[in-house]
Amino acid sequence: MVKRVFISIDMEGISGIVDWSEVDRNNSEYVFARKLMAGDLNAAIKGALDAGVKEIVVSDAHGGMRNLRPEEVHEAAHLVRGSPKPGAMMEGIDDTFDAAMYVGYHSMKGTSNGIMCHTISGRAIDGIWINSRETGEFGLNSGTAGVHGVPSVFLAGDYAATVEANAFVPGITTAAVKWAVGRYSAKCLHPNESTKLITAKVKEALTKPLPEPRVVNEPVEVKLLFNTSTMCDLASLMPSFERIDGRNMKGNFNDYKTAINAMRAAIYLAGAAERR
Ligand SMILES: [Zn+2]
Repeated sequence: MVKRVFISIDMEGISGIVDWSEVDRNNSEYVFARKLMAGDLNAAIKGALDAGVKEIVVSDAHGGMRNLRPEEVHEAAHLVRGSPKPGAMMEGIDDTFDAAMYVGYHSMKGTSNGIMCHTISGRAIDGIWINSRETGEFGLNSGTAGVHGVPSVFLAGDYAATVEANAFVPGITTAAVKWAVGRYSAKCLHPNESTKLITAKVKEALTKPLPEPRVVNEPVEVKLLFNTSTMCDLASLMPSFERIDGRNMKGNFNDYKTAINAMRAAIYLAGAAERR
């Protein structure tokens, strides 16, 4: 019986949202988008409660990680918010959870018909390979859940994100809330319908046999492709990485957590580079 659930919630895969302007807190469009985000989250929480879950921790995982208004989140959940946080999109997960869920998720950079597809940093990163497999945010974060022995059981997002989730975790339950027809355009379910779907699918995910935790083989090779060579100039100052060429570098790490932390530190460094 699933008692403790961890939820990581991003914004690009939330019901009805199709454009960067809607996920940017400095834009007036963001006001309605963060309400839709709370709607998808509360639908997932309702599904978990329907399945008998007793404890829910939610990690706000988009941008500055202060997108959810605390008073709009279902009172059954504890909310982890603010940035930077050590575990980033997965801050709050530990070995005591029975299941991890992902809401508002999007596909990796370069996915065709993937709404606002990107990997960690749209500005700095063109691609991330873990042990030679190109990996997006769901793949990276489900690996972190796996380090704690926690299975990734549910994802809601655009259709491309659900396809990606199934490729990384066979048997995961998913809810597609929109179908992209381009990177910034999609056919969307009405939020009243998508939230009903999320509630039903979460309940289903938590009451059927759970998939195995996703365990990434160690040692771990991380390869990063940056948008510009200046970004790689800066990121390759990290001692554990070796430069491959203008925009690529790679490093080997004994364990997954160290690999992910080194990857994040490298991306932060790259963020100090020029914007062109
Ligand atoms: Zn995001």
